[in-house]
Amino acid sequence: MPKLAIDGGKPVVRKGTIKNWPVLGASERKAVLRVLERGILAGATAPEAARLEREWATYCGRKFCLATNSGTAALQMALAAAQVGPGSEVITSAFTFLASASCALHQNAVPVFVDIDPRTYNMDPKKLEAAITRRTKALVVPHIQGLMADMAPIMRIAKRHDLIVIEDAAQAHGATYKGKVAGLIGHMACFSLNNLKNLCGGEGGLLVMDDETWAHRAALVRMFGDEVDDETRLRLYNASILGYMYRTQELPAALARAQLRKMDRLNARRQANAGYLTDELARIPGVIPPYVPPKQTHVYFMYNVRFDPRKAGVDVSPADFRMAVEKALYREGLQIGQWQTMPVPAQDLFQTMWGYGKTGCPWDCDKYKGKMKKKKRTDRPYDPDDYPVAKALCESYTVVHGIHPPNTLRQMKLYVQAFHKVFDNLEVTMKHKDDRIFPHPEGSLYGTG
Ligand SMILES: *Cc1c(COP(=O)(O)O)cnc(C)c1O
Repeated sequence: MPKLAIDGGKPVVRKGTIKNWPVLGASERKAVLRVLERGILAGATAPEAARLEREWATYCGRKFCLATNSGTAALQMALAAAQVGPGSEVITSAFTFLASASCALHQNAVPVFVDIDPRTYNMDPKKLEAAITRRTKALVVPHIQGLMADMAPIMRIAKRHDLIVIEDAAQAHGATYKGKVAGLIGHMACFSLNNLKNLCGGEGGLLVMDDETWAHRAALVRMFGDEVDDETRLRLYNASILGYMYRTQELPAALARAQLRKMDRLNARRQANAGYLTDELARIPGVIPPYVPPKQTHVYFMYNVRFDPRKAGVDVSPADFRMAVEKALYREGLQIGQWQTMPVPAQDLFQTMWGYGKTGCPWDCDKYKGKMKKKKRTDRPYDPDDYPVAKALCESYTVVHGIHPPNTLRQMKLYVQAFHKVFDNLEVTMKHKDDRIFPHPEGSLYGTG
């Protein structure tokens, strides 16, 4: 039997052979040069941003699209457009990126979390209704790791309670649910264009909707709240509402447009790589590849692998097992490691409830009279034990990076080999469980360090 790399053997995947995301080529260079030659770098009606907006609105089948400088900004613009503010609650999922929840805080509203479905890792619609109060105004529904949430029951419940649904589709460009693309089902939808995402501009965001009033208000929020004259299209330097500076730039917009032309093709290659991995990894006892419900397509922003020590025949806790296997796979050359390490409500921000600082706003705001207030020192409105499914997931999952193109099936075969090597040698793997090894995707992979 070949010796595990963690035990001094030769790694399965050679260093430097896993390729970075995004895939940049001649069309991206051409797009960027076009901007430089034109000499327009930014502006509310600048040509690349305006075209990106039209192209993305068309892709999603929506009337309006606003390009912005981040997905986080798009989320806040959506809530501001719907006039969600102090005194209100916004429901999101316990397993997501912080921005799905902090957008509510940025509007001085209070986030409320719902636990996840144990198979899809998306918001569990069966647990949604119990989280709704008369203060709930909106839902921010993340489509996690590239798989859309179960939108049919979510939309039904939202309609019954007159709630606005904002899809957080930052991880799901091009994913589908019963034939509908991410961004089409909710009242509004937000996308990120950051360098990690399936559609990438370096940084950036997109917000789509059909409602003209919301589109108008979101545009005001994007640029200082400044009104624009209907007739002349000139800025009036007269702010009508509170706004920010969330405008995008021409270089990222042009880059995103070039990437959009390839996006479906690149997503299909992620799907081919992921499909192969899933078929192969499902054969290994104790390895749980991502689940795709019928009538949905996954775009694999992240390839999630979950471990079950019991099924692997190892008598340790899920967290210890996951960490041991992660270390061994990492040493075999895989780019592997956790994304979220805890449910979002377990983060310090929600445990201390400091918000802006020791004032405790927005929870302590006079306008907020809901249940997520800390009346006594011992109150714990965000108790991590209220999200047992998300908590268990965070102990037992990891992410296999580098399944995106230009990485090919040849590399996926090596990943599978590495899994077999480790799972055929679990005794040795467990012997190294306390080695000082810190699995992480290489800094160079995303340029974030
Ligand atoms: C990336 C991401 C965001 C934020 O997007 P940025 O462009 O990085 O601000 C929001 N929500 C989710 C679920 C994300 O993955």
